[in-house]
Amino acid sequence: MNARFPISGDAVPYRLRLPGPTAVPERVLRAMAQPVVAHRGPEFLARFRDIQARLRPIIGRPGSAPYVFASTGIGAMESAVVNVAGPGQRVLVANNGQWGPVFRRLAEAIGAEVDDVATPPGSPVDLEGIERALKAKEYAAVLAVHSESSTGALTDLKALGAIVRQTSAVLAVDSVSALGGAEMRADEWGVDVVVSASQKALMCPPGLALASVSDKAWEVVSRADRGPRSYFDYTRMRPNADKGEPTYTAPVSMMNALHEALTMIGEEGLDAALARHRRLSSALAAGAAALGFSVFPKGTPSPTLVVLLAPEGIDATALIDRLADGYNTIVAGTRFEDLKHRMVRIGTMGAVSDGDILTDLHHLASAVRDLGGRPDEAAGLAAAAEVLNP
Ligand SMILES: *Cc1c(COP(=O)(O)O)cnc(C)c1O
Repeated sequence: MNARFPISGDAVPYRLRLPGPTAVPERVLRAMAQPVVAHRGPEFLARFRDIQARLRPIIGRPGSAPYVFASTGIGAMESAVVNVAGPGQRVLVANNGQWGPVFRRLAEAIGAEVDDVATPPGSPVDLEGIERALKAKEYAAVLAVHSESSTGALTDLKALGAIVRQTSAVLAVDSVSALGGAEMRADEWGVDVVVSASQKALMCPPGLALASVSDKAWEVVSRADRGPRSYFDYTRMRPNADKGEPTYTAPVSMMNALHEALTMIGEEGLDAALARHRRLSSALAAGAAALGFSVFPKGTPSPTLVVLLAPEGIDATALIDRLADGYNTIVAGTRFEDLKHRMVRIGTMGAVSDGDILTDLHHLASAVRDLGGRPDEAAGLAAAAEVLNP
């Protein structure tokens, strides 16, 4: 088991265990092989409307039609920024990892004035800091990340929404690595703009993005001084979305994929799917802890990924290479330089099962052993099994 196996006809199956892109189920892949039909024809429009209808409860905004368009996640984030802010306007970024700084960069690119409330990677968002900042100055928007996939921290959007709701600011949230795997109740919590993408908990290939806008945000979005914006202009998207139509030539095959994935979530039931994400992420974290890893995030961990520090004496980059080369298991490292030799990130979002988690732990234990460690594999599997079968 030394060389990486080819992807098709694998002796050991290729296991995409990243926090995105995530494994795409066979059913979803097959849906993409359907004929490409006219994007304004009746077959496609029926499917597009079903996509919108199925997304509403997942987003938690039953009364408004989401916009679904071709873009990556960062494009979706940019769409939020250019529609809620504009040159010279003040925005506040909740920064507790790597995606807050991306929001900052996007806001600076349009000439907005950016302040941030920063906490060290792994910590929750500083809610009191946000509240203080909003009392001190007026902001057009607060930009936050639902699941900080660089650290595994989950943001308490209910609490953040309650704070932002007291002000005129709009709360825009990057739920790219959360939506479909972590609970989102946009209307109830006061999340004004939700953006997400296809390749994480929505278990599709990369390439589609979505946005959902509250009435409070619409006030702001429809003002002329937003942007600069064109492709991502929500005022172009909304009239089409409300009619159940795509704004641009829809990526038909990708939409077929999303339709199939949302059908699968519907079959499982949204609550059951969310509970599965919590259960599997807890099981993986418990199992890894029993193998000698430590869990990185300090507050509430995200249910969509598990972020670990490697056991004493084990180099994380060597472990990640060993998992790929020896076990065809692809997990992620980090871009934080100081944690490069310590951090391992594993996705628990999308099409993940009990068996995947137990296999992850088996391969983690084997790879640690290959590198000279002495993990207690039985303890790791038992700790996970206890969470999986309480
Ligand atoms: C993956 C991810 C994105 C980025 O999306 P791209 O599709 O790579 O542009 C944005 N935000 C978060 C939190 C993510 O995990």
